[in-house]
Amino acid sequence: SLGNETAKAELGRASWKLFHTIMSRFPDTPTPDESKALKEYIHLFARLYPCGECATHFQQILKKYPPQVSSRSSAAAWACFVHNEVNVSKGKPVFDCADIGDWYDCGCADDEKSQES
Ligand code: FAD
Repeated sequence: SLGNETAKAELGRASWKLFHTIMSRFPDTPTPDESKALKEYIHLFARLYPCGECATHFQQILKKYPPQVSSRSSAAAWACFVHNEVNVSKGKPVFDCADIGDWYDCGCADDEKSQES
């Protein structure tokens, strides 16, 4: 198609950044309601993603690999895995998911402290 590849790539980078940063801040031991919220967020993200062919493709990936929402580490590992599915489909290198732990920083380390006090 004659889409704008630069804009599509920029949207992708911004979206993945938010996606992985959300996983990196998900609770280690979520409540059932928190797990439900993440699962719904992921499905709506896939459904509403502005690039139509990407949305269709990503929804197929979600069907094959349902969101893992039982903990921060399982959500982050799952998100890394499905991003790699997109990478592979585009002929890009696979990202090492062992590095995911400290890669995504929201710049909001103070939140947990201020919520406690
Ligand atoms: P990106 O893939 O955007 O990644 C950004 C950065 O994230 C990388 O530089 C790296 O630091 C890090 N990263 C890479 N892999 C991982 C990983 N597995 N886990 C965690 N971090 C990682 N484009 C299409 O052309 N066709 C599509 O069908 C398509 N589907 C998409 C579906 C979704 C849901 C999203 C969010 C984007 C999609 N895109 C698609 C866009 C595409 O994935 C890229 O975002 C875009 O091509 C720019 O790629 P990039 O090489 O800059 O790195």
